[in-house]
Amino acid sequence: MSKTDLLRQLPAVHEVVKNISSEVSDRPEKEITRAVQDAIKLWRRNIISEQYDIDLKADIQELIKNDAKKNLYHPTKQIRSIINASGIVIHTNLGRSRLSDKSVERMSETAQMYSNLEYNLEEGKRGSRHDLTENLIQQVTGAEAAMVVNNNAAAVYLVLKALAKNKEVVVSRGELVEIGGSFRVSSIMEESGAILREVGTTNKTHYFDYERALSEQTGMIMKVHTSNFKIIGFTKEVSSIELLKLKQKNQELVIYEDLGSGALFPFQSHGIGDEPLISSVISSGIDVVSFSGDKLLGGPQAGIIAGKKEIIDKLKKHQLARVLRVDKFTIAALNETLNAYLYGEHMTIPTVRDILKTSEELKEKAMELMIKIGNHPSLTVKIIEEYSQVGGGTMPDVKLPTYCIGLTYPKGAEYLAKAFREYETPIIVRIKDEEVLLDLRTVTEEETLTILHAIDSIQ
Ligand SMILES: *Cc1c(COP(=O)(O)O)cnc(C)c1O
Repeated sequence: MSKTDLLRQLPAVHEVVKNISSEVSDRPEKEITRAVQDAIKLWRRNIISEQYDIDLKADIQELIKNDAKKNLYHPTKQIRSIINASGIVIHTNLGRSRLSDKSVERMSETAQMYSNLEYNLEEGKRGSRHDLTENLIQQVTGAEAAMVVNNNAAAVYLVLKALAKNKEVVVSRGELVEIGGSFRVSSIMEESGAILREVGTTNKTHYFDYERALSEQTGMIMKVHTSNFKIIGFTKEVSSIELLKLKQKNQELVIYEDLGSGALFPFQSHGIGDEPLISSVISSGIDVVSFSGDKLLGGPQAGIIAGKKEIIDKLKKHQLARVLRVDKFTIAALNETLNAYLYGEHMTIPTVRDILKTSEELKEKAMELMIKIGNHPSLTVKIIEEYSQVGGGTMPDVKLPTYCIGLTYPKGAEYLAKAFREYETPIIVRIKDEEVLLDLRTVTEEETLTILHAIDSIQ
């Protein structure tokens, strides 16, 4: 069929609306009309750009009807739940950390009812939202004081602006990194009005480099976790503990470390990476640190700032603190995440639990699924020994041993991956050597069933 013929076959909006109205009667008419318009628009575009893969015998009306229904119940341009079978635990594009059941319950409760967000229940008057998180952070990190802002990028910005505006901030050239394509230390520094003073080289920075850079203008020494950037071999960096000695020369000097992810659980002692515990960085006597709430911590998006009381007080009073403040849902979720660490219930935090899953556990899960798939008419199924990643720019060189389901499909891996993406609950996979890999590390029992249904639906 020619392009013009195909275009001519496109139905009118009202015809399709009439055709599906009985099946979608739970939706308002305006929404149905828009869903149909979008479906027709997409098909027109696909035909014009020849990006269609339709069976010429298929009824185009039928295809549009299905797409309209999909638009109605599973809109792709609105946030929706997906299954992460990519093997990357903290996947920034997929929303980073999932929350624990308790965090979810607390958030939902907080959404449905009024709360003491800024109300002091003891005194019956206005309170501070900082009070709702500070105590817990003090307990899990050992810091004198703490506060929470929107995300760690905001934390970095606030620290620089409130403590080092118009002053020099000394940073090692080895730590001037760009993280995840949108966070660049030098750019944030520029925005904040602090003056970047680079020292050392990309691979080596010594104590004396910092020492020589100090002057009347110096306000801060900043250490930055290099996250997804790693230099191997012939390197030298100076720890924040060593840098504390420089405070003897300048009492006003602030030593700040952007820890990036920061760990509250000792992954290192479980043989995973070398991320230091936040509490051990704090106990070294550093002035202030910041870290993300939704990376290794496994909580909601947030930036946690912890350190000396004098410094945190200054940050709390800054106008920017109001601009960057977190909402009640974040506080609710963070409260329960921190409680889990405090009471040794870290295995209820999905991010921690998934990172700790062993390859034996995952092999068993993969075998079970393979048995359930059985003999598939078009897919070749096998078990493949592989590695998952922590993700989120955290521990880039750590390989978590896993077992994946490997699927080969006659129409190719890209085609199969697309079919998974377009399933009712989209499933995100990874492709390796023309094979689709399903890594069950971050997949729950219930989600495994959905994956099974998706596989069964593949022709
Ligand atoms: C991830 C990261 C950030 C940004 O944190 P967000 O919570 O994503 O805003 C800043 N600094 C470092 C070192 C990071 O790894």
